[in-house]
Amino acid sequence: MPEAHPLNKQSMPAPVRGEDADDRRRQLIEVTIDSLAEVGYVGSTLAHIASRAGVSPGLVAHYFGDKDGLLKATFRRLALRISEQVRRRLQNARTPRGRIQAVIDANLAPEEFDRRTGVAWLAFWGQVLHAPPLKQVQDVYQRRMLSNLRYSLRQLVPGDEAKSLAAMIAAMIDGVWLRAALSEWRESDSEAARALLTTFVDGRLQDAKSQRVTMTDADARGGSATAVRDDSFRTINPATGEVLGEFACAGPAEVNAAVARAKEAQAKWANMPGVERGRILRRAADLLRQRNDELAELETRDTGKPIQETRVVDVVSGADCLEYYGGLAASLAGEHIDLGPSAFGYTRREPLGVVAGIGAWNYPLQIACWKSAPALACGNAMIFKPAELTPLTAMKLQEVFAQAGLPDGIFQVVQGRANTGRLLTRHPTIRKVSLTGEVSTGKAVMTDAAQTLKAVTLELGGKSPLIVFDDAQVDNAVAGALLGNFYSAGEVCSNGTRVFVQRGIAAAFRERLIKRVQALRVGDPLDPATQVGALISEEHMTKVLGYIARGRAEGARLLAGGARVTDGDLANGFFVAPTVFDQCRDDMTVVREEIFGPVMSVLEFDDEPEVLERANATDFGLAAGVFTKDITRAHRMIAALQAGTCWINHYNVTPVELPFGGVKLSGLGRENGRAALEYYTQIKSVYVAMRNIDAPY
Ligand code: NDP
Repeated sequence: MPEAHPLNKQSMPAPVRGEDADDRRRQLIEVTIDSLAEVGYVGSTLAHIASRAGVSPGLVAHYFGDKDGLLKATFRRLALRISEQVRRRLQNARTPRGRIQAVIDANLAPEEFDRRTGVAWLAFWGQVLHAPPLKQVQDVYQRRMLSNLRYSLRQLVPGDEAKSLAAMIAAMIDGVWLRAALSEWRESDSEAARALLTTFVDGRLQDAKSQRVTMTDADARGGSATAVRDDSFRTINPATGEVLGEFACAGPAEVNAAVARAKEAQAKWANMPGVERGRILRRAADLLRQRNDELAELETRDTGKPIQETRVVDVVSGADCLEYYGGLAASLAGEHIDLGPSAFGYTRREPLGVVAGIGAWNYPLQIACWKSAPALACGNAMIFKPAELTPLTAMKLQEVFAQAGLPDGIFQVVQGRANTGRLLTRHPTIRKVSLTGEVSTGKAVMTDAAQTLKAVTLELGGKSPLIVFDDAQVDNAVAGALLGNFYSAGEVCSNGTRVFVQRGIAAAFRERLIKRVQALRVGDPLDPATQVGALISEEHMTKVLGYIARGRAEGARLLAGGARVTDGDLANGFFVAPTVFDQCRDDMTVVREEIFGPVMSVLEFDDEPEVLERANATDFGLAAGVFTKDITRAHRMIAALQAGTCWINHYNVTPVELPFGGVKLSGLGRENGRAALEYYTQIKSVYVAMRNIDAPY
């Protein structure tokens, strides 16, 4: 039974004024909440409440008038408490998405799921339609929630959409709470309810993002004055919140100018012998290597990734790519086709013209190199738009290319948000778009590109399986799982986030895994000892934490991590501890959806056919890994796994010589390797007659 709040009769024989009176009002309100929780609305008479409080009904009436007055004050107290929580959380939120989360978190906070508070709320909800004073309180509470949500949503989606989405979120908050209350909190608790709302909101925002069309085709083509133009954006260091730069978004005029410059320059570039184009790319590779430490530090500041990664991977792999395609540029060739004595045929492998690259934020410089190197080697000009969250190092690449002697206009960076991306995907002069991004963005890009029949290469998301058989070398398998989940704080598309472990090895695997995960060092990304840095943004961190909450609510066992890290200087950044779940089921949200954060799900299996079926039971198909000493099984498994990029006894290594890309919803086309040349060229077939024409006319 909830504890009553007896007031001391001796100390309050008569009404008092000032602070004492406020204290007494508060105490009486607390007693009223207890009473509502215990005997409900009807039983909570003035006399009953007075007797619980140990005071006379007259004293209660003195402070509140009558029962309605007391109940209205109590209802206001409950609503005000939430408002206060919302206000506090809004103050700490830094982004529109963070402010939406603040509203959700405050309304579905654990204290609102406490039985005593919950039953009191229910008692009021049952009365509001019959009691105008209570209705007033309820109206204010609802209006406030809606206006907070609408205000934040307007910065993310157009006005009308913001209005309806705010109403939906408010209804979900109330609905989720009500269902939980009516099931006596068996159906969900605060954490599960918040996770549900987080997933719902992210899903709706993502849908809105992919469906939103804020420009007409005419705008995209010609830069009409009615184009909706994003103004500018800032990039921050996600480890500290420090602002690193501000960029104006390229609108139609800037994009058109870039395309015109690229078109003019490309004709000459394509006519340059491949060996000369290659020499420029290789010079750029050397310059990148010379500037490795400076660029690695810039990448670390812009992305939050540890310097121990960016120094050895991000710049180096970009340079390798430029060097590799620099070498291939002179080897582009067509075929000779024998057509008998009267003719022969040949093909020319020609560039596409002006192409666009659109990058994601996890490997900004590497992605810019992976796209530009094959494009330029083949004689195309590229306009590249980095992700708005990481605009810095693509600009440096442009600088490096210029230093290496690349003709003006052949590689140009345009900055901006999705609208700028759309200007590229819809531009009739641009003949191809290569995107690295989410599946929904891939669909939007392909839809837009279809209007002008552009070619597309889509490197999209994944939820890849990493399979460990009983006979695997367990330390290697654990190392692979660590690389495949916690490198770049888990923000890697090919990550093996579904770790299937055969039952016989599961205990040993788990034991070594946990030891190594617990030893991982989360910290300042610029500290060379740091192994796990910050996530890219607060919004993304909130999304990842939402998934973790969802995993717990759906019954996965948390073996490590599971929370934000805010120790010392990390408090201003977006750090999440490396997280491992086991006892996972295939139907859990954390097992089905791409999280793009440091969250590993461990699943157990018995035999090969079972794990194969479970591994392939996903819409994604980017990558897969198999750990086993049985070589025939390894190749048999790889042949049957539905994935574009596979590893045997390793994970997440991507040498430039090997094509990289996905199947199913993970993408189209390939980057890297000789294969990428196919995607940046077109074939011209030529028939050559060797005899006079024998015409039947
Ligand atoms: P997004 O899809 O949100 O954005 C990718 C890029 O596309 C950004 O530059 C973005 O601009 C731009 N963009 C967004 N909407 C449109 C549109 N309608 N038309 C044209 N351009 C658009 O991806 P993230 O940046 O969030 O990256 C994370 C995702 O990328 C994950 O799903 C991950 O799996 C995937 N990825 C895939 C890889 C692969 O090789 N398969 C490698 C790395 C990541 P802006 O940022 O300015 O909104």
